[in-house]
Amino acid sequence: MNHRIRLIIIAIGFVLGLGHSVTWGQTPTPTTTEKPKEATPTTTEVKPTTATPPTFLTLLKDATPKSGLWTVYQKGQNLYWEISPSDYSAEYIVLISISRGIGQGQILGGMSWGFGDDWVWQVRKIGESVHIVRKNVRFKANANSPESKAVAAAYTDSVLFSLPISSKGPKGGDLVDLTSVFMSDLPQISRVLPGFSFSQQKSNWGEVKAFEENMELEVAATYASSGNAEIDTVPDSRGATINVHYSISKIPNTGYQPRLADDRVGYFLTAVKDFSSKSDRDQFVRFINRWDLQKADPSLNPSPPKKQIEFYLEKTVPFKYRKAIYDGIYEWNKAFEKAGFSNAIIVKQQGDKENIDPEDIRYNFFRWITSNAGFAMGPSRVNPYTGQILDADIIFDADFLTSWKQEYETFTARTIAEMTGGELEIYPEGTTRPRAFFDERPRSGNECALATGMSMQLAFGAAAIMAGADPKVNEANMEKLIQQGLKEVTMHEVGHTLGLRHNFKGSKWQSLKDMNEPEKCNGCLVATVMDYNPTNIVPKGWKQGDYYATTLGPYDDWAIEYGYKTLSGGTLGELPELKKIASRSGDPALAFATDEDTRGFDPDPDSNRFDLGSDPMEYASIRLAMVKELIPGLVDRMTKEGDDYTQARRAFNVLIAQYGQSSFFVSRYVGGLQTSRSHKGDKDAKLPVSLVDAKRQREALKMLEDNFFSDANFQFPPELWNQLGWSNWNHWGVREGTRKDFGVHDFVLQWQDRILDQLLSSVTLKRMHDAELKAPADADVMTTAELLQRLTKAIFSEVETTKEGDYTNRKPAVSSMRRNLQRSYLEELTKLALGSSSAPQDCQTVAYAELSNLQVRIKSLLDNQPVSSKLDTYSRAHLQESAARIAKVLDARFQLPTPRAGLSF
Ligand SMILES: [Zn+2]
Repeated sequence: MNHRIRLIIIAIGFVLGLGHSVTWGQTPTPTTTEKPKEATPTTTEVKPTTATPPTFLTLLKDATPKSGLWTVYQKGQNLYWEISPSDYSAEYIVLISISRGIGQGQILGGMSWGFGDDWVWQVRKIGESVHIVRKNVRFKANANSPESKAVAAAYTDSVLFSLPISSKGPKGGDLVDLTSVFMSDLPQISRVLPGFSFSQQKSNWGEVKAFEENMELEVAATYASSGNAEIDTVPDSRGATINVHYSISKIPNTGYQPRLADDRVGYFLTAVKDFSSKSDRDQFVRFINRWDLQKADPSLNPSPPKKQIEFYLEKTVPFKYRKAIYDGIYEWNKAFEKAGFSNAIIVKQQGDKENIDPEDIRYNFFRWITSNAGFAMGPSRVNPYTGQILDADIIFDADFLTSWKQEYETFTARTIAEMTGGELEIYPEGTTRPRAFFDERPRSGNECALATGMSMQLAFGAAAIMAGADPKVNEANMEKLIQQGLKEVTMHEVGHTLGLRHNFKGSKWQSLKDMNEPEKCNGCLVATVMDYNPTNIVPKGWKQGDYYATTLGPYDDWAIEYGYKTLSGGTLGELPELKKIASRSGDPALAFATDEDTRGFDPDPDSNRFDLGSDPMEYASIRLAMVKELIPGLVDRMTKEGDDYTQARRAFNVLIAQYGQSSFFVSRYVGGLQTSRSHKGDKDAKLPVSLVDAKRQREALKMLEDNFFSDANFQFPPELWNQLGWSNWNHWGVREGTRKDFGVHDFVLQWQDRILDQLLSSVTLKRMHDAELKAPADADVMTTAELLQRLTKAIFSEVETTKEGDYTNRKPAVSSMRRNLQRSYLEELTKLALGSSSAPQDCQTVAYAELSNLQVRIKSLLDNQPVSSKLDTYSRAHLQESAARIAKVLDARFQLPTPRAGLSF
């Protein structure tokens, strides 16, 4: 038994009037009543006859008291909480964040942390102990109804801790030691750190702050391993210290009126299952998350709000960025004004000497930090019963604004996947069951990766601007780029704090031409700032408009109207009016699709992160034109006399990435489905699903064949490759690249593979196969057979076009890039033919036929002596090997019993 437990037992002894007579192992008799004995001064608890000082005097000797929402006493490793009667009746929201991470995986400084719902805690006094209970807030029923008894019986709260009451505190409350609560793996970080466990001995308290409405507790939590695990950002894996921050506040009881959500308008939700609900659909009641904004004078339109939404700009925000941030926040007032509120938001600058704390939840802060992670986010605190937003901060890591990231030096297949929506397959190889994609994180889709992508967009913009002829103009444009970029990210993050989710269809609204016509556009390039928008840069000969949206778009106005317009009738009574607002969703400017519509395997090619303009083919061809325009002279522009060459390499990668990413968006049209959230009867509504026009699918494929599968667009002056230098630094904090010279073949093939994977993923093929039934019998449809035939023809075109000629290994009939692509494609066909993909069985047979055909054609080329005899070694070997490989597949296929049996969904 350690010293602390001993102290507690002695303390309990005091309260019970047992003095020092308690011996080890002897449990003090519990009191029979569960009623809190609060408010009675401790001294009366102690036997009046003795002159013994109250226990807390010993217990709290040299402790630092802190008083706010809670009264706590900090003493070394111990933190005592003096629980007052009102504390027992309260419910608390407990938010966890990582204030200092280990720079790995999900454990990054500044990120919020949690699995599933936010925590709601309650403390209950049970005998002489206090239980800390995590409340179940997901289920409810009308009080006193039979359903409420059923809910109470079926869904229980979780008791997390039972703490002995040490003594009465100086104010008469129950004193408990919170050490065992927080000096533990309370946030369950060990779930994502295999091999590590929480070490109490190596952990200690960070700062403990008590504010009027919240407690901020920080623990420097050390997770220990045997030392075999390697984390290169941690000096010694035997002890990885992570600062875990707990922010605790009371769920207030206000007269807030919740507003029901609609799936046509993108708000974060608070969903509760209400067993008293009489709905014929399901029993979920879904509220939008929003601020409690009420008109000061209901007769006015617009009226100022009773209470403004107030943002403080932290004093750490550099002067030169303040205006863009102010402007970005204030833009939202325009939308609020249309919804009936004047000056809904007010921005205040934290003075240099002003000591209000950003962690105090009475203040919403725009925070400016330098964590070297380059992100921005807008976490908020929400009442889990009503969806009322109680407090929100915007945390901005300045890093993304100006830095050319080191990771642009080498692009891996993983980087490319991250830029293009992530996982493309939902059927793990050889199975017909979709994999479960709903892992525990990220939760509720409120994680924002805008700033990370923006960092690359700014780099792209800078590379383009620096190609201008006049250095003075370039400098001015660079400034404009940064200021506009910052304003757009600010508008986006503020949108999150107002309750809005991402809308990745916002950038599809206008054509690129219209966006760059100032009189047509008026600053809103896109329908919403809740999209991730790339830098708008046009090639020579075009009129150049703004680089980024400088104001909100029509979708933003509409969403604010839905969420904040004052309506009458109470939560249920305002429903008809809300439905009327939402029913405008058929307007193309109001189209909405969010994170769960924009995963790699999702069907709608109109919903993308970082695409721009109504026509993806146009966007991709413009990005390609930009690459062609910018690469000549790139090294000279990016590398000043005396510099190393790393910047040139990063710029080159960023340019090609833009081209690759935009081409990927084009590939999503093949086998794509356009989706709509409109409801039946909405004006101009589209059906939930419509097939992408066959003509458009063919155009998309043609564009990829001409530009991406041909090697013509990857031909750069040979000296360029040799100028793409690397960083020679080798110390902590820099990433060690695997290969220093530029791997040209790998680089090109990675991008081509990504697009092939998209076109031939089992999900794409299943969709295309189904499309044949989803269109009227006489309608033109692009079939999987057509896709495979076209791809074989385009990728193996040399088999037809190679004529007699003077080929050498340096001037081969089939170029090295094309040989690589052909091998990749053969692999894909093999996978299909052998049934190791979950593609429809019709694709299996067509792939077999394609391979068989191709084999005949390759053989006939190789048998054609005049041509064959003059082939270079590479091309001949490649064709011979391809034919042999196909023969093996065809053989193996014969031994397969039948196409796989069984249905797949
Ligand atoms: Zn976002």
